[in-house]
Parts: sequence; structure tokens; C-alpha cells
Amino acid sequence: MNVEDLEHKPRHRLNDGALYRRLLRQARPFWLHIVGLFVLGLLQTPLSLLVPLPLKIVVDNVLGSEPLPDIATRVLPAAWTSSPAALLVVAAAFVVLVALLMQLRQLGATVLRTWTSERMVLDFRARLFRHVQRLSPVYHEKKGAADAAYRIQRDAPSVHYVAVDGVIPFVTATATIVSMLYIVVRLDWQLAMVACGVAPILFLASRYYRVRLRQRARAAKRLESRALSIVQEVLTSLRVVKAFGQEDREQNRFTATSEAGMRQQVRLAASQAALDLLVGVTTALGTAAILFLGTRHVIDGVLSLGDLLLVMSYLAQLYDPMKTISRKVASLQNHLASAERAFALLDELPDVPEADEPVRIERARGAVVFREVTFGYDDEPPVLNGVSFAVAPGQRVGIVGRTGSGKSTLLHLLTRFFDPEEGEILLDGVDLRHCAVADLRNQFAIVLQDPVLFSTTVGENIAYARPNATADDVVAAARAANAHAFITELPDGYDTPIHERGMRLSGGERQRIALARAFLTDAPVLLLDEPTSSVDVGTEAGIMEAMERLMHGRTTFMVAHRLGTLKSCDILLQIEPDGRLRHLETLEDSDLRVLGPDTDAGPAPRKAAG
Ligand code: ATP
Ligand code: MG
Repeated sequence: MNVEDLEHKPRHRLNDGALYRRLLRQARPFWLHIVGLFVLGLLQTPLSLLVPLPLKIVVDNVLGSEPLPDIATRVLPAAWTSSPAALLVVAAAFVVLVALLMQLRQLGATVLRTWTSERMVLDFRARLFRHVQRLSPVYHEKKGAADAAYRIQRDAPSVHYVAVDGVIPFVTATATIVSMLYIVVRLDWQLAMVACGVAPILFLASRYYRVRLRQRARAAKRLESRALSIVQEVLTSLRVVKAFGQEDREQNRFTATSEAGMRQQVRLAASQAALDLLVGVTTALGTAAILFLGTRHVIDGVLSLGDLLLVMSYLAQLYDPMKTISRKVASLQNHLASAERAFALLDELPDVPEADEPVRIERARGAVVFREVTFGYDDEPPVLNGVSFAVAPGQRVGIVGRTGSGKSTLLHLLTRFFDPEEGEILLDGVDLRHCAVADLRNQFAIVLQDPVLFSTTVGENIAYARPNATADDVVAAARAANAHAFITELPDGYDTPIHERGMRLSGGERQRIALARAFLTDAPVLLLDEPTSSVDVGTEAGIMEAMERLMHGRTTFMVAHRLGTLKSCDILLQIEPDGRLRHLETLEDSDLRVLGPDTDAGPAPRKAAG
């Protein structure tokens, strides 16, 4: 199968006008810097006009004996111009001065351009990153984290290109064209008309190629980000890839995608070169026509020979910026394609919108009510079907059900990763959809089956939800989670770095760090999603003891396959395969009871690893 065939079209695409408007809006805070760059750019011409002056002075006024131009005698002190020797020193000094001014201009322009570009990109990246964090985890699971990473790191810089490197040369080129055209019209309007005859051809050519180039740039970027996704996917599950000996297959998948990307890049470059060719030939044709017609005019006596020479030299200065513009139009496409991708990411809506007037929550009491909640992923049949129950503050809720029945989904609804399709969920009597999302999430401490640790120190991992916690707080939390003992045995204690999602710690150790984190979070509602199912019975006992302490005084939702874990629950809920809820009186009512309490094996095979 051809990799390129797999491409799907994005749902919507900005038209060019809208794209430019958004780019300009992004650049608006920097307009002063852009004007500054523009001015620095304009300074270049007068400065370069000064370069040949010292030589002219030396030739005419030092070696030769022509009188100094008026302006020089007026500006310079008399002593400097009195003798040829003095004048020579002035001329030599002038060389250095002009060079210095030109270099200073360049220095200023480079620093200002770099600062403006980098700042603009930084702001844009920050905006993208904030947005990416607000998107639902499901979006990233579908698209792959590398896709967002590519858009933030590789596509975002285009925002400055269009504003700084695209617009400024465009404006200066247009200014040059207008002034040259004015001069040529004054010399011979017929020649000026002929000279402009190439403009429509250039316009049509760049219009045609604009569409082509943009499509190719889009395809190339899609393929590149796909290749990056493969790298990311394989590296994050390298253990599984190795365990199944699938390195070669992944290698082929990567090279196939990268090769398709390479072909697109070559096609893109070829189109760009073809446009270049077309532009070069068109302007040459224009020059030839002027040469032909101009010579006739000279023969007919309409135009003087000197004027023809002038027209020819201005023509070069007229066509150069025209070429620049046509080529810019081409090279811009690459960046516009990137900008499209970055904006498309910004246009993805978070799954859970913030209420217009969100209810702020300081610290919830922890009363939870589900009222006729129905929820399903995408268009699939509902996972939860008319689920209702009420939990008083501080109660413990045990949730059982076969694998895939929707236990984790129920917890996700509670933290508002998704909103129910029907029914409502209340925390302390307030519909979750009316609560401020950030406040709401602060009400939960979550311990998952496979805890997520970050590549920073053990201490910072524990303090993740409360970055300003003191070292004593962290140690107290670790003690409460029965983690202090093993942490002090690590090489640097609490300062030991955890690499790559905690791979150097055992499952039980990671789980205890996650528990310590939950202790420190000190949230009123605790969500435990099979926290002990990946550790052995001995370790489980230690974790359970810590967990008992953690659950004290908090509303707790506990998902567990081992029924022994659920003994202390006040409410027992079982999710049936059809998504309905059964309230159990005792654990013995559960259809999982065949396993008996405290058995080690899960009721159903766990999902395949990875
Ligand atoms: P387990 O005991 O294996 O953890 P669970 O009861 O926690 O299972 P859920 O994770 O809630 O089950 O999943 C319930 C159903 O929803 C499953 O059929 C699953 O395939 C589906 N599902 C879960 N997450 C998504 C998702 N992001 N997109 C689509 N379907 C999903
Ligand atoms: Mg689950």
C-alpha cells in the first residue's frame, strides 16, 4: 500500500485571506519591531551609495585637482580640506566610517530580526502548547503525541517567516518596482508598457505554482510528522517491540514513510525550480522585447541612445524585484502550509468547554451524585447506560465489572475528561459542567494502575500537584505512603532522578511514589483505578495499609479486580456488560465472586501489554 494514499484530508482548511489575517494578528504585538526592521532595511541603500565616495574624492581631489563639491566644503572643517594630504586622511577615515556604519546597521538588523522572530515564535509556541494541554487526551491518543510535537516545534516557526522574512522584502520590492516604473514611464511610456507586459505572465505563473507548491509542502510535512510519530511510538514501547522481535518491521515502516516524505521534498524542490525557470525566461523575453523595440525607437529618433541605455539598466532593477516577488510567493507556500497546520491545531476544540460563568470550588466536601448518566465513545454504543447513584462525603465506593465494562470511563467522567451524553454528574450539588475546570480537577487525587512519573527527581514527582510543598511535607507524604524507607536507600534519596517515566523503579515502588503524591495533593476525592493489580500480594499489603490512611476522611472511588481490596467499601457498584449499573449488597452478590476474595489472578485476561 502506498503511504501517501493513507492521507486523509483535514476537516476544514482556512482560505488564504483568513490565513494571512491570522498570521498578521499573531504578529501585531511586534509591529514596532517590524517597522524598526523595515527602517534598518531601507538604510542599506543610502549607506551603500556612500561606499564609492572616498575613491571619487581621492581620484578627483587628491590625485586630480578638481575643486571639492560644495557640500564637502560646507560640512568639513577648513583645515581638513586645505591640503591633498589632509584630504587623503579624511578619505581614508571615511572608508572606515562608512564600513563601520554599514556593519552597525547590519548588527542592529540581525539582533532585532532574531529577537523579533524568536520572540514571536516563542509566544506562538506557548499558545499552541497551552492549547494542546487543554485538548482531551483522546485527541492526542488518536493523532499521536508526535503530531502535536511536530506542529509546535517544526511548524510554529513559520509564523515569523511570513511576517518578518516574507512581508518586508515584499514591501521593499514593491517600492522599488513602483519607483523604477515611474522613471521608465517618464523616459518612454511605450517601453514601460512592454516592460510591464511580463507582469501578468509572472502573476499567472506564480498563481498556478502557488497551489501546486502548497499541496506538495502539505504532503511533505504530513509525511515527516508521520515518520516522527513512528519514532515516538516505537521508542515509547521499545520493550514490546524488542520482546516480539519486530525491529525490522518498524524499521521498514519508518523508512517507507521517510522515503515518501523524501519524494515529496524532491517534487517540491522541482516545482520550485520550474517556477524559477519560468520566471527567468519570462523576464528575459521582456528584456529582449525592450531591446528590440527600444532600438527601433532610437532608429526612429523617438529615443536617444543614452536614454535607451538608461532604460535597459533600470529594466534590470525593475525585473529583479519582480523575480524576488515571484520566488517569495513560491517559498512562502512552504511556510504557509506550516502555518495552516499550526492553526489547525489551535482550532481543535477541547472536549470539555469552560462554563460561561464557572462556579469556583475552594475545597469540595465530596458528595457525588450520578443521575441517569449515559456515555459512549464517538458513535459506538454507550459504555455507561442510565447510571445513577449517590455518594455521601467520606464514603467509599467500590466499582467492579468485567474488563472493558467502563470502570475507568466512569472515573474519567467524574474528573470531566468527557461530558456525559445524557444525565448529569454533581459534585456537592453542582453540575460538573458548571464548575471551573481547573478547580474541579484540583478536587481529585488519582492513583492509576500504572502510575505516571516524570523524568525529574523523586521529590519533585511526589510534589507534582503541589510544587511549593516543603521538603518536610514531601517526607511526611512519603512516610505515609510507606515509601520513605526505599527512597532513602536510593543513591541520592529524594534527589534521585527518575529517568524516562520511572523505568528504573519497580512497579510497587512507583505505585508508592504515586500514593505519596496523592497524600500530598490532599484532595477531598480519591480515585483509585486498580492501584494494586500490578504488584504482588506482599507489596499489596504494604500499599493497602498506606491506602487505608489515605482514604480516611475522603470520598473514595476504588476500582479493583481483587475483591479483597474492596471489603471496606460502603457502596458496591457493578457495571454490567450492557452499561447498566447494579448496586450490590455484599461482595458475594458480585458475578466476579467465583474468584473468591484475595485471589491473585484477575477475573479476565488483562489487555495485551503496550
Ligand atoms: P479494564 O478493567 O480493562 O480497565 P474498564 O472497565 O476500565 O476496563 P474502560 O477503560 O472504561 O473499561 O473502557 C470501556 C469501553 O470503552 C471499552 O470497550 C473500551 O474499548 C472503550 N474505550 C475506552 N477508552 C476509549 C476511547 N478513548 N475511545 C474509544 N473507546 C474507548
Ligand atoms: Mg480500566
